[in-house]
Amino acid sequence: MIELLFLLLPVAAGYGWIMGKNSAKNQAHQLNRQITSEYSKGLKFLLDREEDQGLEHLINLLEVAADSVEHYSTLATMFRRRGELDRAIKIHELLLKHPSLDDQQAATSRLELAEDYIMAGLLDGAEEHLVWLVKAGHKEALEPIINLYSQTREWEKGINMYEAHSELFTKPQHVKAIANFYCEAALQDNDTQIMRKAISLNHKAIRPLYELGHSAFTKEDYVKAIYYWRELISQFTFFAPVFIEELALSYQKLNLTHQFYELLNELLDKGGVLIKIKHCQALLEQGHIEQAIKFLTDSLKRHPTIRGFSFLLQLLAKQNNDIKDVLDQIDKLVTSYIATKPDFQCQHCGFTSHTIYWVCPSCKHWETIVPSRGIDGF
Ligand SMILES: [Zn+2]
Repeated sequence: MIELLFLLLPVAAGYGWIMGKNSAKNQAHQLNRQITSEYSKGLKFLLDREEDQGLEHLINLLEVAADSVEHYSTLATMFRRRGELDRAIKIHELLLKHPSLDDQQAATSRLELAEDYIMAGLLDGAEEHLVWLVKAGHKEALEPIINLYSQTREWEKGINMYEAHSELFTKPQHVKAIANFYCEAALQDNDTQIMRKAISLNHKAIRPLYELGHSAFTKEDYVKAIYYWRELISQFTFFAPVFIEELALSYQKLNLTHQFYELLNELLDKGGVLIKIKHCQALLEQGHIEQAIKFLTDSLKRHPTIRGFSFLLQLLAKQNNDIKDVLDQIDKLVTSYIATKPDFQCQHCGFTSHTIYWVCPSCKHWETIVPSRGIDGF
């Protein structure tokens, strides 16, 4: 009989374990039911357009359901999109105070809160949170704080942030923005020394080289202008349309035009149609008109462009006096067509313009506006 009781022991233990498990399950089930019911009430208020009550309800629920941080974040984002910034701010501030958030959730909530503040025009509040994030090593705060300092034109603050946390700046577009901050600060203080710092950053930017060349050119220091612009045209050949005329003039002033022709030769493979046109002009100046026509015709067969076609018409008009008037008329039409096309385009958002902007007026990215490419471009 006693042996039989021993045999029943595992059964009793198993029963106890199952009962215990069921009791924990029941508790969890009850809590879930409570949360679902509170959720439904909150959502019902929202759907009934009693939004204040609905929101209060859902925010109170946060105390019970810490695992639903994602839902609250989504809700806050929804309010922000609808322009209800006070509500988005309220939810994000509450989330940020919640003790159960892990580091990443806290950083995301802080970033979202900064976005709310920016949209609400509360830039000081946004800056405070973004600086906190950068100091804590969160790279995702770099873009919004760069945009913020661009908007407030606080170049020094951006530069100081870069110098203190340069290890976070691994993306070229962020370094380019800082290079432009150095240029803006240099132009503001009329101090090219500051600009030189931007040349040694770990990602090359266009503007410091351009500005240093331009500054030398306006002071008639053609040796320095050539030094900086030659570096620029070799690294960023697509940017040539912005300064190639001044670069050619710098060589001419120093009686070094043959060196300019050599430079054009070096750039032929990576340059666009403008470099090819300049090369043709060099051939013409040296009296090689047939060679220029052949070179341009062959290039256009490989990469047809309207600007190249227009220049070819001018070359042919020079050689064919009897049809010169007809060719000139066609060229006029082509030239007026080119004039309707934008000279510059943002590589990030597609914004087009007839002038160069260092920061895109549309997407706010630095150095993404470049001379147009393709059949209508340079
Ligand atoms: Zn853009």
